[in-house]
Amino acid sequence: MSVIVAIDGPAGSGKSSVSKAVAHKLGFGYLDTGAAYRCLAWACLDSGADLEQQDAIVAHLDAIGQSRPLNAGDQRHSVGDQDVTDAIRGPEVSAAVSQVAKHPLVRRGLNDIFRALAANDERPGIIIEGRDITTVVAPDAPVRILLTADEATRVARRQAEIDGVDASALIARDRADSQVVDFMSAADGVWTLDTTHLTFDQSVEAVIDLIAQNTEISIETGQ
Ligand code: C5P
Repeated sequence: MSVIVAIDGPAGSGKSSVSKAVAHKLGFGYLDTGAAYRCLAWACLDSGADLEQQDAIVAHLDAIGQSRPLNAGDQRHSVGDQDVTDAIRGPEVSAAVSQVAKHPLVRRGLNDIFRALAANDERPGIIIEGRDITTVVAPDAPVRILLTADEATRVARRQAEIDGVDASALIARDRADSQVVDFMSAADGVWTLDTTHLTFDQSVEAVIDLIAQNTEISIETGQ
């Protein structure tokens, strides 16, 4: 069982790229829970499921559990035999994913999948990132971090990542998501890391320092 490093934050906070870089440097696993929600949304849209019907969404959970990539360097996502790596970042999935994520049984089913993946991973650590990892999925993790950045910085970062991303859609998605889980303020015992004025490398180093301070894992980045 891997030691869990739980990282939450809003869209554009840098949590995915920072988490991936830390996992890569430390030889940890990496679980992008947002990608799992996106794959589920893609499967529902593909099958024409009614996104208001919780049961219709839950029926797709098995396909999601089977194909989660845990290697930071190889994040191809598939649903069944379809590669959906690019499709899950597109505007249709981005617009639908909050609707899928609002159902309690969907969240419970995905959380069980996430915990089982961490329990079966044999690397020294696994970084799990999302919106409710520090509070719901792994509230007992030895390292729990809320990665934040101010709104203008988050929009600018996301626009640099994805050409033509719609800033208002991103802000609206955060608003919808924060009705379901609170990822804008840190829960008790969760470390807030505001990256607004940090470079990417400084953010990565700050997360590695927190892991070194709060776990017994010997950190040898060699880089
Ligand atoms: O992290 P990312 O922006 O790719 O997440 C996509 C969507 O998945 C979020 O907008 C949210 O609706 C949902 N999500 C969630 N809980 C998580 C991770 C993601 O509800 N732990």
